[in-house]
Amino acid sequence: MITGSRLAEWLSQMVQIPSVSPDQAGPRAGVPGEGRLAEAVARWFQSLGGEVQQEEVIPGRPNIYGLWRNSHSDRWLAVDIHMDTVSVEQMSGDPFSGRIADGRVYGRGAVDTKATLAIVLTLLEAAQQTGQTLPANLLIAATVDEETQFRGAPAFARWVRRQQLPLDQLAVAEPTMCAPVYGHKGVTRLEFEVQGKSVHSSQPHLGQNAITAAAHLILALDEEHRRLQTLAPSPSEGEGGGEGGGLGLPTLTVTIIHGGTGENLVPNACQLLVDRRIVAGEKPVEVAAALEQLARQACPLPVTMEVGLRVGAFLQAPDTPWLRQLAEWSGQKPTVAPYGTNASAYEGLARECVVIGPGSIDQAHGAEEWVTIAELEKMAGIYAKWWGLRF
Ligand SMILES: [Zn+2]
Repeated sequence: MITGSRLAEWLSQMVQIPSVSPDQAGPRAGVPGEGRLAEAVARWFQSLGGEVQQEEVIPGRPNIYGLWRNSHSDRWLAVDIHMDTVSVEQMSGDPFSGRIADGRVYGRGAVDTKATLAIVLTLLEAAQQTGQTLPANLLIAATVDEETQFRGAPAFARWVRRQQLPLDQLAVAEPTMCAPVYGHKGVTRLEFEVQGKSVHSSQPHLGQNAITAAAHLILALDEEHRRLQTLAPSPSEGEGGGEGGGLGLPTLTVTIIHGGTGENLVPNACQLLVDRRIVAGEKPVEVAAALEQLARQACPLPVTMEVGLRVGAFLQAPDTPWLRQLAEWSGQKPTVAPYGTNASAYEGLARECVVIGPGSIDQAHGAEEWVTIAELEKMAGIYAKWWGLRF
């Protein structure tokens, strides 16, 4: 049976296994990475009748795939749940307590996004206990590296294509307060380096000041952001369709600047980090190339560019039958999200793709993280209906 206390127990158990992204692991992170949680998930999937496959995406950091096949059905339902969490260094209290109190489960990952992992395991356990077979084929992917470098999701997408699994519906777990999310922006991060020439600062005219040159570039980038804000507005949120599909306008902002090596030296280098949000219809590769061109024109000194993260927007039709059904079950209208998710890697992978999960993004990544048991129950009810289980 699906009870709030069983959901909370599963979730508490998962929160107690640290899985902080190694890129953000500090002294309080415990054993960094998803390795230990992945091992436990593989064991749990197996004990619940799943066929388990592992794919080592990064050394010691495998994606875990659980398959529950039903030879009488052609339908394939899939869920992607990332196992990694953000840093715990700024958290108050024990980040991995998994404390259950006040109708909530506390700790890093509780809402982002071990909650959905707890829900699917509770459902599979209850199905096993009540002797129910899922009416469709089910694939659950517990993936790595969502929070920082985004390598788990593309690996999962390639694996599905290699296995030639014809996915019909794919749910990507993130906290959405159980609302079905059909779109969000993508992002590309670019690092520019301006090269100058260092000389004694008493004779600056003999050198080439990389910081001053970078200032020209910064202003040009700011101008580019303002130009983006004059583009034709996309249709209103929730209505979708058309160019951009309700995702809003692209944005661009400089986030980090480094330059100079001494107080009496003309700086010979200056680096800028730029965050450019991508809307539907834009190709990250083309956006990056255009900004490289812009930088060369705007900067009076030589400038090079390196591309860091490069992730497209996610957008699916806002009015498919599945989306309408999820909206009806959750009592929440289909919407778009302000943040990015693994769904960006899944274009064309399933007939329909939705981001959905219990709890609020407001409780993710903060000094205190929690999810209410009521939200877990609500989401578990939606999943049970989606999977065709009766409790
Ligand atoms: Zn997340």
